[in-house]
Amino acid sequence: MNVLPRPDIAALEGYHSPQLAVSVRLNTNESPYPPPREFVERWLDGLARVPLHRYPDRQATSLRGALGEFHGHDPDRIFVANGSNEVLQTLLLAYGGQGRRAAVFEPTYALHSHIARISGTEIVVGTRQSDFSIDPIQARRLLVESKPSVTFICSPNNPTGTVETGELLDAVIEASPGLIVVDEAYGEFTATSALSRVSDALPLVVVRTYSKVWSMAAVRLGFAIGPRWVIAELEKVVLPYHLSAASLLAGEIALEFAAEMTERVGTLVAERERLASGLDALPGVVAYPSGANFILFRPPGDAHAVWRSLVDRGVLVRDFSAWQGLEGHLRVTVGTSQEVEIFLTALGQVVADTGA
Ligand SMILES: *Cc1c(COP(=O)(O)O)cnc(C)c1O
Repeated sequence: MNVLPRPDIAALEGYHSPQLAVSVRLNTNESPYPPPREFVERWLDGLARVPLHRYPDRQATSLRGALGEFHGHDPDRIFVANGSNEVLQTLLLAYGGQGRRAAVFEPTYALHSHIARISGTEIVVGTRQSDFSIDPIQARRLLVESKPSVTFICSPNNPTGTVETGELLDAVIEASPGLIVVDEAYGEFTATSALSRVSDALPLVVVRTYSKVWSMAAVRLGFAIGPRWVIAELEKVVLPYHLSAASLLAGEIALEFAAEMTERVGTLVAERERLASGLDALPGVVAYPSGANFILFRPPGDAHAVWRSLVDRGVLVRDFSAWQGLEGHLRVTVGTSQEVEIFLTALGQVVADTGA
Protein backbone atom coordinates (compact mmCIF):
# COMPACT_ATOMS: atom_id res chain seq x y z
CA MET A 1 0.00 0.00 0.00
CA ASN A 2 1.31 3.37 -0.87
CA VAL A 3 -1.36 5.88 -0.06
CA LEU A 4 0.24 9.28 0.35
CA PRO A 5 -1.14 12.62 1.47
CA ARG A 6 -0.45 15.80 -0.49
CA PRO A 7 3.35 16.33 -0.40
CA ASP A 8 2.94 19.70 1.33
CA ILE A 9 0.84 18.08 4.05
CA ALA A 10 3.33 15.22 4.47
CA ALA A 11 6.03 17.84 5.09
CA LEU A 12 3.99 19.65 7.75
CA GLU A 13 4.42 19.28 11.46
CA GLY A 14 1.22 19.18 13.49
CA TYR A 15 0.35 21.88 16.01
CA HIS A 16 1.74 21.03 19.44
CA SER A 17 1.18 22.64 22.79
CA PRO A 18 2.51 20.20 25.37
CA GLN A 19 0.43 19.59 28.50
CA LEU A 20 1.94 18.26 31.71
CA ALA A 21 0.24 17.30 34.95
CA VAL A 22 1.31 20.15 37.23
CA SER A 23 -0.63 22.14 39.82
CA VAL A 24 -0.13 25.62 38.30
CA ARG A 25 -0.89 25.67 34.58
CA LEU A 26 0.05 28.99 33.01
CA ASN A 27 0.86 27.81 29.49
CA THR A 28 -2.20 28.16 27.24
CA ASN A 29 -3.67 31.61 28.01
CA GLU A 30 -6.94 30.21 29.31
CA SER A 31 -8.91 32.11 31.91
CA PRO A 32 -8.09 30.91 35.45
CA TYR A 33 -11.79 31.30 36.32
CA PRO A 34 -14.61 29.05 35.09
CA PRO A 35 -17.71 30.84 33.76
CA PRO A 36 -20.30 31.92 36.40
CA ARG A 37 -22.33 29.05 37.86
CA GLU A 38 -25.53 30.80 36.85
CA PHE A 39 -24.40 30.85 33.22
CA VAL A 40 -23.88 27.08 33.29
CA GLU A 41 -27.32 26.54 34.83
CA ARG A 42 -29.05 28.76 32.28
CA TRP A 43 -27.22 26.94 29.47
CA LEU A 44 -28.14 23.47 30.72
CA ASP A 45 -31.78 24.55 31.19
CA GLY A 46 -31.89 25.81 27.64
CA LEU A 47 -30.23 22.65 26.31
CA ALA A 48 -32.91 20.50 27.94
CA ARG A 49 -35.46 22.23 25.72
CA VAL A 50 -33.54 21.95 22.43
CA PRO A 51 -35.27 19.66 19.87
CA LEU A 52 -32.32 17.29 19.45
CA HIS A 53 -33.82 15.41 16.49
CA ARG A 54 -33.70 18.61 14.41
CA TYR A 55 -30.67 20.26 12.83
CA PRO A 56 -29.57 23.44 14.61
CA ASP A 57 -30.28 26.87 13.12
CA ARG A 58 -27.93 26.90 10.15
CA GLN A 59 -27.86 30.69 9.92
CA ALA A 60 -27.13 31.09 13.66
CA THR A 61 -29.73 33.87 13.50
CA SER A 62 -30.17 34.31 17.20
CA LEU A 63 -26.48 34.28 18.14
CA ARG A 64 -25.50 36.57 15.27
CA GLY A 65 -28.26 38.96 16.27
CA ALA A 66 -27.08 38.99 19.88
CA LEU A 67 -23.40 39.42 18.92
CA GLY A 68 -24.33 42.14 16.44
CA GLU A 69 -26.21 44.03 19.09
CA PHE A 70 -23.38 43.57 21.57
CA HIS A 71 -20.76 44.97 19.17
CA GLY A 72 -22.92 47.51 17.34
CA HIS A 73 -23.00 45.80 13.94
CA ASP A 74 -25.76 44.22 11.84
CA PRO A 75 -26.04 40.41 12.05
CA ASP A 76 -24.99 40.09 8.39
CA ARG A 77 -21.60 41.51 9.39
CA ILE A 78 -21.09 38.58 11.81
CA PHE A 79 -19.78 35.07 11.11
CA VAL A 80 -19.66 32.48 13.91
CA ALA A 81 -17.66 29.23 14.00
CA ASN A 82 -16.12 26.53 16.20
CA GLY A 83 -13.44 28.67 17.79
CA SER A 84 -11.66 31.48 16.01
CA ASN A 85 -9.42 28.82 14.49
CA GLU A 86 -12.36 27.67 12.35
CA VAL A 87 -13.02 31.31 11.47
CA LEU A 88 -9.38 31.63 10.30
CA GLN A 89 -9.65 28.37 8.35
CA THR A 90 -12.83 29.55 6.62
CA LEU A 91 -11.24 32.90 5.76
CA LEU A 92 -8.26 31.09 4.21
CA LEU A 93 -10.45 28.64 2.28
CA ALA A 94 -12.36 31.57 0.79
CA TYR A 95 -9.53 34.09 0.25
CA GLY A 96 -6.34 31.99 0.24
CA GLY A 97 -5.55 28.72 -1.54
CA GLN A 98 -3.44 27.58 -4.50
CA GLY A 99 -1.57 30.39 -6.23
CA ARG A 100 -2.35 32.90 -3.47
CA ARG A 101 -0.31 34.30 -0.60
CA ALA A 102 -0.87 35.13 3.04
CA ALA A 103 1.39 37.55 4.94
CA VAL A 104 2.31 37.14 8.61
CA PHE A 105 4.70 39.11 10.83
CA GLU A 106 6.81 36.71 12.86
CA PRO A 107 7.01 35.85 15.66
CA THR A 108 3.24 35.56 15.88
CA TYR A 109 0.41 33.05 16.40
CA ALA A 110 1.59 29.83 14.74
CA LEU A 111 -1.85 28.85 13.50
CA HIS A 112 -2.02 31.73 11.01
CA SER A 113 0.73 30.23 8.85
CA HIS A 114 -0.15 26.64 9.80
CA ILE A 115 -3.77 26.90 8.59
CA ALA A 116 -2.62 28.90 5.56
CA ARG A 117 -0.27 26.06 4.59
CA ILE A 118 -3.01 23.44 4.99
CA SER A 119 -5.21 25.49 2.67
CA GLY A 120 -2.42 25.52 0.06
CA THR A 121 -1.68 29.22 0.55
CA GLU A 122 1.91 30.38 0.18
CA ILE A 123 3.28 32.30 3.19
CA VAL A 124 5.22 35.54 3.02
CA VAL A 125 6.95 36.52 6.23
CA GLY A 126 7.61 39.96 7.62
CA THR A 127 9.86 40.22 10.67
CA ARG A 128 9.19 42.19 13.82
CA GLN A 129 11.73 44.60 15.30
CA SER A 130 13.71 43.76 18.44
CA ASP A 131 10.90 45.14 20.66
CA PHE A 132 8.49 42.91 18.65
CA SER A 133 6.66 45.84 17.06
CA ILE A 134 6.07 45.89 13.30
CA ASP A 135 7.80 48.69 11.41
CA PRO A 136 5.10 50.36 9.25
CA ILE A 137 7.59 51.20 6.48
CA GLN A 138 8.84 47.63 6.29
CA ALA A 139 5.28 46.29 6.41
CA ARG A 140 4.23 48.55 3.56
CA ARG A 141 7.19 47.41 1.47
CA LEU A 142 6.45 43.70 2.07
CA LEU A 143 2.77 44.06 1.15
CA VAL A 144 3.44 46.12 -1.99
CA GLU A 145 6.11 43.67 -3.19
CA SER A 146 4.41 40.36 -2.35
CA LYS A 147 0.75 41.32 -2.94
CA PRO A 148 -0.78 38.86 -0.45
CA SER A 149 -4.47 37.94 -0.75
CA VAL A 150 -4.64 37.80 3.05
CA THR A 151 -2.62 39.77 5.62
CA PHE A 152 -2.69 38.71 9.26
CA ILE A 153 -2.27 41.21 12.06
CA CYS A 154 -2.50 39.82 15.58
CA SER A 155 -3.21 42.48 18.21
CA PRO A 156 -2.43 42.00 21.03
CA ASN A 157 0.09 39.66 19.39
CA ASN A 158 0.47 36.14 20.69
CA PRO A 159 3.07 35.30 22.05
CA THR A 160 4.71 38.72 22.44
CA GLY A 161 1.77 40.69 23.91
CA THR A 162 2.46 43.61 21.54
CA VAL A 163 -0.47 45.92 20.78
CA GLU A 164 -0.32 47.24 17.22
CA THR A 165 -0.68 50.99 16.75
CA GLY A 166 -3.29 52.76 14.64
CA GLU A 167 -0.39 54.02 12.52
CA LEU A 168 0.65 50.45 11.67
CA LEU A 169 -2.90 49.48 10.78
CA ASP A 170 -3.21 52.58 8.57
CA ALA A 171 -0.04 51.53 6.72
CA VAL A 172 -1.32 47.97 6.27
CA ILE A 173 -4.72 49.16 5.04
CA GLU A 174 -3.06 51.50 2.57
CA ALA A 175 -0.59 48.93 1.18
CA SER A 176 -2.57 45.68 1.30
CA PRO A 177 -4.14 44.62 -1.99
CA GLY A 178 -6.18 41.88 -0.28
CA LEU A 179 -8.09 41.00 2.86
CA ILE A 180 -6.76 42.21 6.23
CA VAL A 181 -7.49 39.90 9.14
CA VAL A 182 -6.99 41.40 12.60
CA ASP A 183 -6.91 38.58 15.16
CA GLU A 184 -8.14 40.10 18.43
CA ALA A 185 -8.33 36.92 20.51
CA TYR A 186 -7.07 39.08 23.42
CA GLY A 187 -8.78 42.29 22.31
CA GLU A 188 -10.74 42.76 25.52
CA PHE A 189 -7.55 43.00 27.60
CA THR A 190 -6.47 46.24 25.93
CA ALA A 191 -8.08 49.54 24.95
CA THR A 192 -7.02 49.43 21.28
CA SER A 193 -9.25 47.63 18.78
CA ALA A 194 -9.85 47.64 15.03
CA LEU A 195 -13.55 46.88 15.59
CA SER A 196 -14.65 50.47 15.00
CA ARG A 197 -13.01 50.39 11.56
CA VAL A 198 -15.18 47.56 10.26
CA SER A 199 -17.41 48.69 7.39
CA ASP A 200 -18.55 47.46 3.99
CA ALA A 201 -16.10 49.87 2.38
CA LEU A 202 -12.93 48.29 3.83
CA PRO A 203 -11.60 44.72 3.27
CA LEU A 204 -10.92 44.31 6.99
CA VAL A 205 -12.16 41.54 9.28
CA VAL A 206 -11.76 41.42 13.06
CA VAL A 207 -11.66 37.94 14.62
CA ARG A 208 -12.57 37.32 18.25
CA THR A 209 -13.12 34.30 20.47
CA TYR A 210 -15.03 33.10 23.51
CA SER A 211 -12.02 30.98 24.49
CA LYS A 212 -10.04 33.50 26.54
CA VAL A 213 -12.04 36.38 28.02
CA TRP A 214 -15.33 34.49 28.19
CA SER A 215 -13.75 31.49 29.99
CA MET A 216 -15.25 29.18 27.37
CA ALA A 217 -12.26 27.47 25.71
CA ALA A 218 -14.02 24.09 26.00
CA VAL A 219 -17.13 25.28 24.15
CA ARG A 220 -15.19 26.14 20.95
CA LEU A 221 -16.75 29.35 19.77
CA GLY A 222 -15.29 32.27 17.85
CA PHE A 223 -16.53 34.90 15.45
CA ALA A 224 -15.58 37.41 12.79
CA ILE A 225 -16.94 40.91 12.30
CA GLY A 226 -16.41 42.15 8.76
CA PRO A 227 -17.95 43.60 5.60
CA ARG A 228 -21.21 41.95 4.49
CA TRP A 229 -19.67 40.81 1.21
CA VAL A 230 -16.89 38.94 3.06
CA ILE A 231 -19.28 37.34 5.55
CA ALA A 232 -21.45 36.12 2.64
CA GLU A 233 -18.43 34.32 1.10
CA LEU A 234 -17.59 32.67 4.43
CA GLU A 235 -21.13 31.35 4.72
CA LYS A 236 -20.72 29.70 1.29
CA VAL A 237 -17.52 27.92 2.29
CA VAL A 238 -18.22 26.68 5.82
CA LEU A 239 -19.86 23.27 6.30
CA PRO A 240 -23.61 23.39 6.83
CA TYR A 241 -24.65 22.97 10.48
CA HIS A 242 -21.01 23.24 11.62
CA LEU A 243 -22.10 24.78 14.93
CA SER A 244 -23.97 22.56 17.37
CA ALA A 245 -27.10 23.75 19.15
CA ALA A 246 -25.08 23.57 22.39
CA SER A 247 -22.45 26.02 21.11
CA LEU A 248 -25.02 28.42 19.66
CA LEU A 249 -26.90 28.54 22.93
CA ALA A 250 -23.75 28.98 25.05
CA GLY A 251 -22.62 31.91 22.94
CA GLU A 252 -25.89 33.73 23.26
CA ILE A 253 -26.42 33.18 27.00
CA ALA A 254 -22.81 34.21 27.73
CA LEU A 255 -23.50 37.72 26.43
CA GLU A 256 -26.01 38.21 29.24
CA PHE A 257 -23.11 37.80 31.67
CA ALA A 258 -21.10 40.64 30.14
CA ALA A 259 -20.88 42.49 33.46
CA GLU A 260 -19.22 39.49 35.15
CA MET A 261 -16.91 39.12 32.18
CA THR A 262 -15.87 42.77 32.29
CA GLU A 263 -15.14 42.45 36.00
CA ARG A 264 -12.88 39.44 35.36
CA VAL A 265 -11.06 41.32 32.62
CA GLY A 266 -10.40 44.10 35.13
CA THR A 267 -9.09 41.61 37.68
CA LEU A 268 -6.82 39.92 35.14
CA VAL A 269 -5.47 43.24 33.82
CA ALA A 270 -4.62 44.30 37.40
CA GLU A 271 -3.01 40.92 37.99
CA ARG A 272 -1.04 41.28 34.73
CA GLU A 273 0.42 44.56 35.99
CA ARG A 274 1.39 42.91 39.27
CA LEU A 275 3.00 40.06 37.33
CA ALA A 276 4.86 42.59 35.15
CA SER A 277 6.26 44.42 38.21
CA GLY A 278 7.19 41.08 39.79
CA LEU A 279 9.11 40.05 36.67
CA ASP A 280 10.83 43.44 36.43
CA ALA A 281 11.98 43.08 40.02
CA LEU A 282 13.82 39.81 39.32
CA PRO A 283 17.53 40.24 38.48
CA GLY A 284 18.34 39.55 34.84
CA VAL A 285 14.73 38.98 33.76
CA VAL A 286 13.47 41.02 30.78
CA ALA A 287 9.68 41.22 30.43
CA TYR A 288 7.88 42.76 27.44
CA PRO A 289 4.89 45.11 27.68
CA SER A 290 1.66 43.17 27.11
CA GLY A 291 -1.92 44.09 26.25
CA ALA A 292 -3.05 40.49 26.68
CA ASN A 293 -3.54 37.97 29.51
CA PHE A 294 0.04 36.72 29.26
CA ILE A 295 3.57 38.12 29.38
CA LEU A 296 6.58 37.14 27.29
CA PHE A 297 9.85 37.25 29.21
CA ARG A 298 13.51 36.34 28.89
CA PRO A 299 15.04 34.75 31.98
CA PRO A 300 18.80 34.93 32.54
CA GLY A 301 20.79 31.93 31.34
CA ASP A 302 19.37 28.86 29.61
CA ALA A 303 15.63 29.48 29.16
CA HIS A 304 14.79 25.82 28.54
CA ALA A 305 16.57 24.84 31.75
CA VAL A 306 14.59 27.56 33.60
CA TRP A 307 11.37 26.18 32.09
CA ARG A 308 12.34 22.67 33.29
CA SER A 309 13.12 23.93 36.81
CA LEU A 310 9.73 25.68 36.94
CA VAL A 311 8.03 22.40 35.96
CA ASP A 312 9.96 20.69 38.77
CA ARG A 313 8.40 23.28 41.11
CA GLY A 314 4.91 22.50 39.79
CA VAL A 315 4.59 25.52 37.47
CA LEU A 316 4.03 25.10 33.72
CA VAL A 317 4.68 28.06 31.40
CA ARG A 318 5.08 28.00 27.62
CA ASP A 319 8.58 27.31 26.35
CA PHE A 320 9.40 29.36 23.24
CA SER A 321 13.16 29.02 23.65
CA ALA A 322 13.55 26.92 20.50
CA TRP A 323 11.34 29.17 18.31
CA GLN A 324 12.92 31.21 15.59
CA GLY A 325 12.98 34.84 16.69
CA LEU A 326 12.07 33.95 20.29
CA GLU A 327 15.26 32.18 21.36
CA GLY A 328 15.65 32.37 25.13
CA HIS A 329 12.03 33.38 25.78
CA LEU A 330 9.20 31.95 27.88
CA ARG A 331 5.55 33.04 28.10
CA VAL A 332 3.47 33.03 31.25
CA THR A 333 -0.31 33.31 31.35
CA VAL A 334 -1.92 35.59 33.95
CA GLY A 335 -3.54 33.28 36.50
CA THR A 336 -5.23 33.89 39.82
CA SER A 337 -3.27 36.08 42.24
CA GLN A 338 -2.27 32.93 44.11
CA GLU A 339 -0.95 31.34 40.91
CA VAL A 340 0.94 34.53 40.00
CA GLU A 341 2.47 34.52 43.49
CA ILE A 342 3.53 30.85 43.21
CA PHE A 343 5.02 31.49 39.78
CA LEU A 344 6.98 34.58 40.85
CA THR A 345 8.33 32.81 43.93
CA ALA A 346 9.35 29.75 41.87
CA LEU A 347 11.02 31.89 39.19
CA GLY A 348 12.80 33.92 41.87
CA GLN A 349 14.23 30.71 43.35
CA VAL A 350 15.27 29.36 39.94
CA VAL A 351 16.97 32.61 38.99
CA ALA A 352 18.77 32.73 42.35
CA ASP A 353 19.86 29.07 41.98
CA THR A 354 21.33 29.64 38.54
CA GLY A 355 23.42 32.39 40.12
CA ALA A 356 22.47 34.87 37.45
C1 LIG B 1 -6.03 31.46 21.68
C2 LIG B 1 -6.01 32.16 20.37
C3 LIG B 1 -7.06 32.00 19.48
C4 LIG B 1 -8.24 31.21 19.94
O1 LIG B 1 -8.54 30.15 19.17
P1 LIG B 1 -9.95 29.46 19.44
O2 LIG B 1 -10.03 28.54 18.27
O3 LIG B 1 -10.99 30.54 19.40
O4 LIG B 1 -9.88 28.79 20.76
C5 LIG B 1 -7.05 32.69 18.30
N1 LIG B 1 -6.04 33.53 17.99
C6 LIG B 1 -5.01 33.72 18.82
C7 LIG B 1 -3.94 34.68 18.49
C8 LIG B 1 -4.95 33.03 20.03
O5 LIG B 1 -3.93 33.19 20.85
